[in-house]
Amino acid sequence: MNEMDVRKLIEFDRKHLWHPYSSMTNPLPVYPVASAHGVKIRLADGMELIDGTSSWWSAAHGYNHPKLNDAIKRQLEKMAHVMFGGLTHEPAVKLGEKLIRMTPEPLQTIFYSDSGSVSVEVAVKMAFQYWLARNYRNKTKILTVRSGYHGDTFATMGLCDPVDGMHKMFHDILPENIFAEAPRCKFDDPWDENYISDMLSQIDRHHSSIAAIIIEPIVQGAGGMRFYSPHYLRRLREICSEYDILLIFDEIATGFGRTGKLFACEHAEVSPDIMCIGKALTGGYMTLAATLTTHHVSETISGGMPGIFLHGPTYMANPLACAVACASLELLEEYNWQEKVLSIEKQMKEQLEPARKLPAVADVRVLGAIGVIETREPVKVAEIQAKFVWEGVWIRPFGKLIYLMPPFIISGDELSKLTAAVVKVAGTIKFNQ
Ligand SMILES: *Cc1c(COP(=O)(O)O)cnc(C)c1O
Repeated sequence: MNEMDVRKLIEFDRKHLWHPYSSMTNPLPVYPVASAHGVKIRLADGMELIDGTSSWWSAAHGYNHPKLNDAIKRQLEKMAHVMFGGLTHEPAVKLGEKLIRMTPEPLQTIFYSDSGSVSVEVAVKMAFQYWLARNYRNKTKILTVRSGYHGDTFATMGLCDPVDGMHKMFHDILPENIFAEAPRCKFDDPWDENYISDMLSQIDRHHSSIAAIIIEPIVQGAGGMRFYSPHYLRRLREICSEYDILLIFDEIATGFGRTGKLFACEHAEVSPDIMCIGKALTGGYMTLAATLTTHHVSETISGGMPGIFLHGPTYMANPLACAVACASLELLEEYNWQEKVLSIEKQMKEQLEPARKLPAVADVRVLGAIGVIETREPVKVAEIQAKFVWEGVWIRPFGKLIYLMPPFIISGDELSKLTAAVVKVAGTIKFNQ
């Protein structure tokens, strides 16, 4: 692209294109990308940035991967899409086989959809339809914890943190759910039953109206990048079984190795009744998500009125997306991702640690291939972003969080550049007293 083209592109973009969580009258800068390869994003001006975000958890194998490109091309020759109503195909079945094998054993039924938010909507609908099928008409509420994030659609907004979440202004018009205190126990903290006492008292008070509990296992992502103890999940699983409440795990961010386990719930060795996956499912190639559940739930729904599950997206099980997801999961199994994630974890722990002493920094934490620096106050995104681009890295902070979740294929040297940039830029942050 020549300079003129780029200027026009940005001009049109500013005038007409809405970006995530952005203003059309006071837009923050966007950087035009020409291409991306491996862990590098190449801007239109030729500058190359090392990617520290995996494009929001998704591009776990980096960009422009020959194997993933090839999977899409091969599928494209056969068909890009056919409806899933009344038809089926090999990519959907092959991906299904892999997912059933990789996810916790009780999960045996898969509902494909097109984005993470929709997969959470589907999970919630499954829970409600399950109880209706069993003729429990009072079970109309979802219980969740504060500081969560489950998506941007209406049902999912109602599950995000009601005070600090991005959607608090909608709170009056959202479906009313029940919130328990967010897990306070850090990942390594020894267990204390008090950590779950608020959850327990909410359940005690409301269990007859609760259809399901939804939670992001081990890592609360966009709601605060907080890591909590596997004991909490283990206790939650016990309590849900005891009270006959469905347990939904939202593994959309944590799934496919990011936390050091294939799925974060494996840290606690527990499985949910319903599980949502998305983001890294296709290695960042196509939008695809899925909601998995047990035979018990799917058979109960199918045995109730009207005898079917009431959902069916147009692009359900899109063959291109399923084909590239298959290739992405094969890739994950081919290279030793667990060792990669562990070495990323070790390196980030060492190299981010010096940031702890910086005046602007409140906390530094690392789990798996997720590194977080929490600042004392919200940062100025555009200003910090520009500094990172200047340092040759792509890192996008939000609120008080500067975080790294690089593609697993990153080299030690490239990761050092990311961590050095984070520590350096965090050192320049000054908050007014
Ligand atoms: C990103 C995310 C979602 C929403 O997924 P989209 O594909 O953006 O709709 C839901 N839950 C969690 C935990 C997420 O990280």
